[in-house]
Amino acid sequence: MSSSDRKWVDSVVLQDEIDRYLVNGRDFVDEELIWDQLEKQRNPSDSEIREIIARSMELERLEPAETAALLNCRSDELWEEMFAAGLSIKQKVYGRRVVFFAPLYISNYCVNNCAYCAFRSENRAVARTCLTDDQIRAEVKTLTAEGHKRLIMVYGEHPSSGADFIAHTLKVVYDTKYGSDEIRRANINAAPLSIHDLRKLSEVGIGTFQVFQETYHHETYGRVHPADTLKGNMRWRLYALHRAMEAGVDDVGIGALFGLFDYRFEVMALLLHTIDLENRFGGVGPHTISFPRLEPALNTPFVENPAHLVSDDDFKKLVSVIRLSVPYTGMILTAREPESIRREVIPLGVTQLDAGSNIGVGCYASGEKKGEMQQFELADNRSLEEVISDLVDLGMITSFCTAGYRCGRTGQYFMDVAKSGKVHALCMPNAILTFGEYLGDYASAETKVKGWRLLEEELGRLPGEDLRIKVSGLLERVRNGERDLYL
Ligand code: SAM
Ligand code: SF4
Repeated sequence: MSSSDRKWVDSVVLQDEIDRYLVNGRDFVDEELIWDQLEKQRNPSDSEIREIIARSMELERLEPAETAALLNCRSDELWEEMFAAGLSIKQKVYGRRVVFFAPLYISNYCVNNCAYCAFRSENRAVARTCLTDDQIRAEVKTLTAEGHKRLIMVYGEHPSSGADFIAHTLKVVYDTKYGSDEIRRANINAAPLSIHDLRKLSEVGIGTFQVFQETYHHETYGRVHPADTLKGNMRWRLYALHRAMEAGVDDVGIGALFGLFDYRFEVMALLLHTIDLENRFGGVGPHTISFPRLEPALNTPFVENPAHLVSDDDFKKLVSVIRLSVPYTGMILTAREPESIRREVIPLGVTQLDAGSNIGVGCYASGEKKGEMQQFELADNRSLEEVISDLVDLGMITSFCTAGYRCGRTGQYFMDVAKSGKVHALCMPNAILTFGEYLGDYASAETKVKGWRLLEEELGRLPGEDLRIKVSGLLERVRNGERDLYL
């Protein structure tokens, strides 16, 4: 590492922005409590599990003891009940809609050395690139021409992709418009930042700020993130989203990378993270939870044989327990998972999907799949249109709605809307209108036919005659070519 990079690395972590959140010098990942609860609840009775499911169906966030009991369930029949409950919770809170986005990798320069990632600094097999403004515009043009309206922009951790650069690229994305082809919401997945830097992102209109903890297990974290790297500072990362909330970024996304440690521990820790955010920020927890599994990555032997590989069966279980534990939180399932798993896992209560994804830096415009530009491999390589068509078959509407963010309906406001059930009168109509736009502008003839049929059915399910008439009128205007209409 050059001496100027080293100087930058040494200047990033602000100890005060960690210490202010500790309680008696301890962070919120109380490992003793997690193991203790998993042990105490190791043999839950059928009736206990059913009581917990019922509480979750009342849209109550579960307590650690309850989540531990669900994780220890050994009855196939009860797991089936949990899977079904997850779907009905999701329908109650979010309706029959799934929000779509695309990942946009901006830079793969990175000063860190995470054992599982192809972008780690010591990996010479990766071609390093950082997109120019023109290249970003070209990527946005390709994505919006397919119908995308929402992005997650992804960056390595490097002095060349600090907060000012992220803010600049966000602005380039928002300023790129081709008629009604435009990105209306850009989320960020990047390294932890300081409160000062997060304010800069808040000012340019960041959507959700995502930072995955990877693993919450202190010892494992230390093993896969070398101590002499920036990411080796576990607590700087642990409080990244606390700092974001303090900086006014009120939609934050947490996540764990499954395969690094015992999945039951990670689910418990995700819950503790949620509870700590809720306790400190007026009841507002994370906007989303992500649960990626380790995927193969170029020249990365670590991922070939991970110690805690999560089987497909266990993956379904952990997704289901997260759904039941935090009924109001969005859940993101990415194209890391193959088509067959996505089909099985979506109905467990997933709220967001990516599709048509190409994670090679700069590869949307060229249309190439370039392994040497990728952080890991994707398993679901279907186009946006194919995945949307599949969702229509599952009876679900694709939403490109971004009205929530643009009207300031984030954080506390969103939670209030979700908790009062107003989602059905607000988010569902907007989902219907944005799906109508998609069908009009981008869908194949076959998807158009079945998509409009589904939209008519959904219109009929909206609560109240007045609302149905109003949305039906707006939808007619969308059919006639008007765009960006929302409630
Ligand atoms: N560099 C930033 C960071 O580490 O926070 C940006 C995030 S990274 C580009 C996006 C996420 O991809 C990581 O947080 C990690 O969870 C996930 N990831 C890394 N390597 C992976 C792999 N081999 N398989 C699946 N996911 C991986
Ligand atoms: Fe860098 Fe992020 Fe990859 Fe770690 S996971 S090596 S921080 S890009």
